[in-house]
Amino acid sequence: MAKTAIVTGGGSGLGQSTALRLAQEGINIAVVDISEKGGNETVQKVKELGPDAIFIKADVSQAQEVKNYVDKTVEHFGSIDYFFNNAGISGSGKYFLETDIKEIEQIVGINLLGALYGLRYVAEVMVKNGGGSIVNTASSAGVIGQDTVVTYSATKHGIVGMTKSLVAEYAKDGLRVNAVAPGPTETPMVKAYFDANPEMKKNAEAGIPQKRLGTADEVAELVAFLLTSKAQYINGDVIRIDGGFTSTK
Ligand code: NAD
Repeated sequence: MAKTAIVTGGGSGLGQSTALRLAQEGINIAVVDISEKGGNETVQKVKELGPDAIFIKADVSQAQEVKNYVDKTVEHFGSIDYFFNNAGISGSGKYFLETDIKEIEQIVGINLLGALYGLRYVAEVMVKNGGGSIVNTASSAGVIGQDTVVTYSATKHGIVGMTKSLVAEYAKDGLRVNAVAPGPTETPMVKAYFDANPEMKKNAEAGIPQKRLGTADEVAELVAFLLTSKAQYINGDVIRIDGGFTSTK
């Protein structure tokens, strides 16, 4: 029987590329996003590759909406085999003492609480069904310290913590949970920022040993590997995919 994956933030960037990469393996996809336009676009593209797909609109910072996307997925596909817990936002790029509380609450709400709520409801289904595999999206900012991203970095270090600790509790029940930690990757989020600040792009590339940004397809390839049966004994790990960026820090 075909497997099913939930991909949050599936309407753009890393989420969309991963949804399409998984669809190439014949996996059905529940695309979760706050954006209807992006979400529906991904559904269309998945279906063109063959597998079934549904779009479920949700703001992942709202626990009730997270429960709803989990329930709807089970209702439609019968199970959840894979979960790419990926939806997230970056901050304004201001120094911490210039950041207002609203921004802190928003980033924590989406990146940290949203990821925790997802794990809470998805892992419950997986453990009940004998197991499953999860990849959470951390970041370089989840493994090293950097300026202008204090709140973002706090949420991404949190992603690393929840990844490791969930394994301590539920690996025995068949759950595998890993995280990816991408460096700057050319998704719509980052592209818009760098198009407006070309100097920043040059600086970012200069700071990466491989002298280029990553691509969403490169991250999707890693996520697909970690999620599927090829990575049965990798658990609780955080895999950096950053052209050597954090290895030099
Ligand atoms: P993106 O903006 O291209 O895609 C993010 C998607 O998440 C969008 O479709 C957006 O609508 C959705 N989203 C935003 N808020 C949401 C919410 N509250 N509820 C549901 N969906 C919501 O960005 P991306 O670069 O693909 O980022 C995906 C993940 O990767 C994020 O967690 C980000 O922090 C992380 N990341 C990105 C990079 C990078 O350089 N692009 C590097 C490291 C980590």
